[in-house]
Amino acid sequence: MSASTTVFVATNDLSGHTRGRAVPGDALERVLRNGVGWVPADLALTAFGDIAPNVFGSTGDLKLMPDETTGVEIPPYGGSPGTHLYLADQTLPDGSAWHSCPRSFARTALDELTQVTGLELVASFEHEFMLPDLPDSAPFSFGRFRGAEPFGTELVDLLTRVGLEPENWLPEFGADQFEITLRPASGLVAADRAVLLKELIRDLAARHGRRVTFAPLVDPDGSGNGVHVHLSLRDAETGRPVLYEPGRTANLSSLGARFAAGILAHARALVAITACSPSSYLRLAPHRWSTAGIFLAERNREALLRICPTSTVGGGVPANQFNLEYRAADATANPWLTLGVLVRAGLRGIAADYDEPHIWPEEMEESSLGSVPSLPGGLAEALAELEKDDVVSGWFSPELLHTHCSVKRAELAAVEGLDDRRMCARVADVH
Ligand code: GLU
Ligand code: MG
Repeated sequence: MSASTTVFVATNDLSGHTRGRAVPGDALERVLRNGVGWVPADLALTAFGDIAPNVFGSTGDLKLMPDETTGVEIPPYGGSPGTHLYLADQTLPDGSAWHSCPRSFARTALDELTQVTGLELVASFEHEFMLPDLPDSAPFSFGRFRGAEPFGTELVDLLTRVGLEPENWLPEFGADQFEITLRPASGLVAADRAVLLKELIRDLAARHGRRVTFAPLVDPDGSGNGVHVHLSLRDAETGRPVLYEPGRTANLSSLGARFAAGILAHARALVAITACSPSSYLRLAPHRWSTAGIFLAERNREALLRICPTSTVGGGVPANQFNLEYRAADATANPWLTLGVLVRAGLRGIAADYDEPHIWPEEMEESSLGSVPSLPGGLAEALAELEKDDVVSGWFSPELLHTHCSVKRAELAAVEGLDDRRMCARVADVH
């Protein structure tokens, strides 16, 4: 690496923002060994850039310890230099774990899943976002796909080159909306990819003089941008997938049903982590194909948890494809915390032997929605549910839980008094 290339070492915060610091390229070896400095109160930054009341104050020091395996090279573009981006754990100055590091939260949850069950998680985060001001905005159209060139092809090439394994790049239904999906990967890698993906997209768009937004809703009457998290489990030793069991309802194994039960049982608290901006709850409503209520269903895009289809076409193996899709997340959330709470909730369902949930069939009547539990109506209600749910709040260090709630309440206060349209615009401005 040339000395004129920088290395940016980063974490991802409680609003899904990637923050950190850069060092000269020739410091890479040293930084991989020693990390760079960081400050505990940085965790209390809101999406709008101010610091929410927090327990850390002006004292204390941390390190950002980069994980070498996460490094991606962003090439120079036009007159703009390239850089290297590494994701990091936040540690104490002596390198030991910091109790409130979101990436460590995910790793600990994944490790515990494997220790308790012998299973490991495979995941993929599917992102939607808006790339405004294209000439053709017809849903799913070839015209919109071509209108986004050369950005689209350059994005797919870049993601391929840095190992993010892009799968689909598509013009979505909403105005100016696109979606990108990545191949499934083991849990922490999938969450790391979700962090990197957003930055690579934003950065490439900026090189084209464009701005993208991942905000849950840009226009209260328009389409939402979701982050759908696909989850499956496999035996950690043999790699055998364990969610699929032909002959059972929807082919979902008993273990998979209890994993789903944990997520459903704690969903009212989980969304305070997975959909955590003031506008997130306008998206989580019926008729938006996001999440209309707390239920598990076969192939229904209004379910909190959707059992995805499988296919034998081209020699496909259903057991290898079978997965649960959590639809109540968006890009205002921290991907490590999102993955961590889903894993912990699923593990709780398995370990505490929760009753298997009802599985709604694909042809479920819309009127049945009246009988399923609803999600919180807003972020304030979701935060109260998080604090009330002793199981979920017990997964966090008191400092991390307190800071999350404080940051989110500060974000709510920042949009207080705005009507839905202005509130969505304010949130979209920073996401
Ligand atoms: N845009 C929808 C959402 O907000 C998802 C549409 C789809 O099924 O891809 O989640
Ligand atoms: Mg979509």
